[in-house]
Formats: sequence, structure tokens, C-alpha cells
Amino acid sequence: MTGAATLLQDVFGFDDFRPGQAEIVEAVSAGENTLAIMPTGGGKSLCFQLPALLREGVTVVISPLIALMRDQVRALQEAGVSAGALTSGNTPEETDAVFEALEVGRLKLLYMAPERLAAGSAIGLLQRVGVSLIAVDEAHCVSQWGHDFRPDYLRIGALRQALNVPLAAFTATADRETRVEIVEKLFDGQAPREFLQGFDRPNIHLGFAAKDGPRRQILGFAAARKGQSGIVYCGTRAKTESLAGALREAGHAVMHYHGGMEADDRRIAETRFQREDGLIVVATVAFGMGIDKPDIRWVAHADLPKSIEAYYQEIGRAGRDGAPAETLTLFGPEDIRLRRAQIDEGLAPPERRAADHGRLNALLGLAEALTCRRKTLLEYFGEGDVTCGHCDLCDQPAEVFDGTTAVRKALSAILRTDEWFGAGHLIDILIGNETDKIRQRGHQSLPTYGVGTEYDRRQWQAIFRQMMGYDLVRPDPDRHGALRMTDAALPILRDEAQIMLRRDSIRAAASNRRPAVKAMVSDEDAPLLSALKAKRRAFAEAAKVPAYVIFNDRTLIEMAQTRPQSLDAMAQVSGVGAKKLERYGAAFLEVISGEVTHMHPTRRKLAGREAGSIYDQLLAVQADLSRGAEGTDKPLSCSASLLAKVAQLRDADSTALQRLLGDRRAQRFGPAFLDVLREAS
Ligand code: ADP
Ligand code: ZN
Repeated sequence: MTGAATLLQDVFGFDDFRPGQAEIVEAVSAGENTLAIMPTGGGKSLCFQLPALLREGVTVVISPLIALMRDQVRALQEAGVSAGALTSGNTPEETDAVFEALEVGRLKLLYMAPERLAAGSAIGLLQRVGVSLIAVDEAHCVSQWGHDFRPDYLRIGALRQALNVPLAAFTATADRETRVEIVEKLFDGQAPREFLQGFDRPNIHLGFAAKDGPRRQILGFAAARKGQSGIVYCGTRAKTESLAGALREAGHAVMHYHGGMEADDRRIAETRFQREDGLIVVATVAFGMGIDKPDIRWVAHADLPKSIEAYYQEIGRAGRDGAPAETLTLFGPEDIRLRRAQIDEGLAPPERRAADHGRLNALLGLAEALTCRRKTLLEYFGEGDVTCGHCDLCDQPAEVFDGTTAVRKALSAILRTDEWFGAGHLIDILIGNETDKIRQRGHQSLPTYGVGTEYDRRQWQAIFRQMMGYDLVRPDPDRHGALRMTDAALPILRDEAQIMLRRDSIRAAASNRRPAVKAMVSDEDAPLLSALKAKRRAFAEAAKVPAYVIFNDRTLIEMAQTRPQSLDAMAQVSGVGAKKLERYGAAFLEVISGEVTHMHPTRRKLAGREAGSIYDQLLAVQADLSRGAEGTDKPLSCSASLLAKVAQLRDADSTALQRLLGDRRAQRFGPAFLDVLREAS
């Protein structure tokens, strides 16, 4: 693996493999058929790009999305790798250049859209140019049952047989059915080596909140992340437009996106989002498949997703570069009602519908979780053993109470009214609110009337929502959404089981203050980070590539924090490979050393010399003593040039210091300065 490790460092600028990458690279390089299942952001591309460089000949990469292919090709070229794409988006010149590189045997990676395989000439061409490996990105596109099915993917199996070369397939979709189908369609049923990488995305912070002025909640979340790329998912097309409007009014750079837009407009939105820095897209779930942006810093759900799988996939679009990313998912009783209705009114057969309710229940369980979200989420995916400390419930544990009695009262109100009413009316009964509707039905004489006055309306709403979340009650579409009890509630009704509920944190809702901006680095490093980003943007615009093709966020953050002062030090930063160092190293170093201009000119003259750091220490000591050891004396300090002289003093002793500083200053600072100087020598 030494060859791989060297290339990893030299070409990609990474010190280490991400979990799982090393094994996959080894197997693929060795020419084994492989199927690798890695979470989004796990670093799949590297697992075929690196073997492509290690192997003789050309690696063909089949990938479903033209825009993404082009970006990957640009990124490889930036790293000094000979790569090209054959897609319908090419200019004739681009296509000529690819063919030329192929003919002279220079090209290492050839990206192709699956549609290309339909042309009879494609296989002949690939046979001629010496293909030694096929890599299939987004391999789940062969699955006819998934929503990403691409018929042309079915041609890949024949391609593999015609070329008789190893094939490496990659996907983030883990479920068994899809895996079986991939093996059948791509590998002709012959089991490849499988790699299943864990599903934890530790850099993504998980958070949920019950809806409480959802528009305000989303605006607040976005305001705290101004200038960072984010996605807001909405349940309806109309809402994407109105919420985008509200965000625009609040001063954000924002677009909306939904499946009802013209194909061209959708393409424009996708391209802008991919290229630009700090843009927000407010979208339906139609947005995502075409997106491969590693530096999405946050994802918010203005409405509850449809299942726990959908949730995982949607939040997973954040933080693919491994730098911190945040998520917020809002949910309320209306969402639950809507999602249940969608399942019930769908055309799926009954057992499928039951499964869909189950997947929704899993998500609701996550939304109403009482302990760590990450544990709850990953347990669903069969991974129990995780450490978190990075979700809202780890940040601040939920306040819980024994809700058994409350739930039994609510169930009793439901049953005594024959399961014909919604939460609003049931709450009126419980708190004894004598409305017209109550009087008309004579519900004021029910034994449950007014038995729930220990909670107010808002609290009861939270209790009902949680009952829906635990699937103790379900809205019945045939009864205008009236709540009906499920079998899951029976043990509680019979007093055989208890239930803990969470108190909705009213604190969170109460904070109408402007939220503190969530920075990716400390205050100290923030100005440098934005200067580095500005430099990156300039390069990206000049080269017409997305910003992350130059350097990704994580690389810039590391630069801002470690402040390399030389090209050698710069080369140590993760993401700075040899080619990029050569191309951009000096320019970014200049930005970092530009920081020096904020220094006192006298100090700047000492930069890079030992006296420079001594000067800084003297300055710190002086600040401590500026009002004397007790802090009660008159302020006193030395000029910059005087400090510089002290810093450069050779063979310092108290007499020399006294001569230089004069009596008063020598008395106050002399001994402490002397300590600094002795320490340094
Ligand atoms: P996905 O698995 O979603 O296709 P990518 O291949 O796009 O993920 O990689 C996601 C991000 O991780 C990219 O920005 C890539 O540069 C970065 N990356 C990949 N491998 C490493 C590594 N070994 N060290 C650091 N960053 C890496
Ligand atoms: Zn947690």
C-alpha cells in the first residue's frame, strides 16, 4: 500500500485514509470485483480514483449525472490527473481532447454517462483503448425499485462481460434488496467482495424541534448561519417559494427549487448552488439527486420527512467534506397527519403500506426521542455502538415526566366520544372548555369533561403530538382525521405499561433574540478564514469551477487554524496535494502572512526570528504588570522600539536592562523581562 499512501498524499493531499477507504483501495487496485457501501461523504470517489492511478490503462467511470462528472473531472485535473468525460454536455473541442488523450494512452480516468453505452460504438471504443477497470458510481441506479432507476445502467453488466475487466461498484444505499439487485445486474450474480462502511456521520449535528412558529424557527436557524450554504426542505412546492421569499427579505442569498419548475430553471438552480458559496436553496425533495456539493453546512426540514430513511439521506447531504455541519428538523401534528394520509391514500399494497407506517414511526420515534438522537438513528440502521455528544439531546437532555395518567385521560376522552374527534375538540373536553360544539354534543356531561386541568392547551397539544408520534393514536382519513386508538395503546389503557413523555422546551421558543452566529472557527481565526475564502472564490471564478474544487472548507479551516508560514508547512495541510501546492500555495500563504500587516511595524521586522517570539512574551508580561504587581499602580509601558531592543539584548542582566529601560520601568518590568530573556537563551 505504500504506492497508494504516497499518491494519497501527493495527488490528493490527504494524510490518512478515511475509515474503510484503505481496504477498498487495496481490493480495487488488486483487480477484485467489489461492491462498496459507504455513507454519503464517506469518500467513495477516492476509492476508484486512486486505484485508477495505480493500475495500467484507463478506468471507465459510469456516473449518472453530467454536472457531477464534469466537476469531478475538473477537480482531478486541478490535482494534476489526466481525466476526461464523454457526455452530451461536451463541446466538440472537449470531446476531441478526450479522444486525443485516449489515443496516446495518456488518459487515466474516463467518465461516461450511462446513455453513452447505448451507442453501439461505445464498447468497441473502450475495447480499443485498453480499459482495465470499470467503476460504477451510484450503483443503486440499477435497481428498478428505487426512485433513482436509470435503465441504461442495465447495460453495464454487458459492458463488463465484453471488456472482461474487474468492476467496482459504489453506493450509499444500504438496504439488502438493493444490494442483491446490484450483484445480480452488475456482477451477473457472482458475489463481489463487499465492503459495508458504518453509517455514522459524526460531523453532522442532529437536532429536532416541535413546530412553534415554524417560519420564525427556520429564519432564526438560517440567521445564525448567514453566509453558509444550506438547504431547507419543505413539504409543498408553494411553501418553497414563500419561504424563499421570507429568507430573501431577511437578507440571504436564496433560491427555490421544486419538481414543478421548468427543466432549464431547475438546471440553473442546481448549477448555481453547486458553484456558488453561501447560497441557500429552499426545495422539495426533488432537490438532491443532482447535488454533489461537499461544503453544504446545514440542512433544515421545515416539514417532517416521509421516513427515517428519507431523513437520513436528506440530512446526509450536509458536511460531506467532514467539516462541522448542522441540521434541524421541525415536526408537528399536521405533519404526522399529512404523512399518514399520504401512505393510506397511496396505491401501494397493504403490507407495503404497513411497512411505510413503520418507517414513519421510526422517524417519529426519533423526533420524540428522550435520549441521544444519534444512538436512536443508528440503532435503526443496526449500528448500536456509537459515541455522540453531538446532538441536541446530548447538548441538553430532555426534561421528561411520567405521562401515563395524562395519556390514559386522553385515550378515555377519545373512546368516550367514539373516536370521532380531533385533538382540538378532545383538548376542550379535557380542560373543560365549554364551546358551542361541546354543548351541541352534550360533551360537558362526559365523565372525562374537565379532568385534565393540570395541563394547559399547549401542553395537551404536546401530549397528543407525542401520542401520535408513539403511534398510540392515528388520524383516520375516513373520519376527517379524527384520532383513533391503535393496539399499541392498549397496555397503557389497561394500566399494564407506563410511558415517559417530554416537556416541550419552552425556553427554546421564548428566545426571540437574534441568535448568535455559529462560526466554524474561533473568533480569532474567523477573519483569516473569510480572507482565505475570498481568495478561493477569486480562483474559482477565474477557473469557472465550484469553490471546493480549489480547496474544500475543511482545508481552509485547517489553514486558518494552523497558519502555515512556508510552502513546506502548507504542504502538511490536509487537502493540499503537490499540484495544488504548486498552483495555489504561494497565494494562500500570502493571505495568511497578510495577517502580519496588523502587527506593529517594529514587531513585523522581527517576524520569523527568535526575537519576534521574545517580543510577544515581553508584551504579554508587560500587559500583566502595566499597573504593577498588585494592579493598583499608575499605568506604565514601554514603547514598541524599546521592547524590540530588549528582545534583542544579548547577555542580558539587570544592569543592562536598567540602562536600557530607565529606573521606573526597570523597577516595574526588569525582573519579569529578565525571566523571559533567560528562558529564551
Ligand atoms: P462520497 O462518498 O459522498 O462520494 P466524496 O468522494 O465526494 O464522497 O468525498 C467527500 C469529501 O471527502 C470530498 O470533499 C473529498 O475530497 C473528501 N475526502 C475523501 N477522502 C478523504 C481523505 N482520505 N481525507 C480527507 N478528505 C477526504
Ligand atoms: Zn447524541
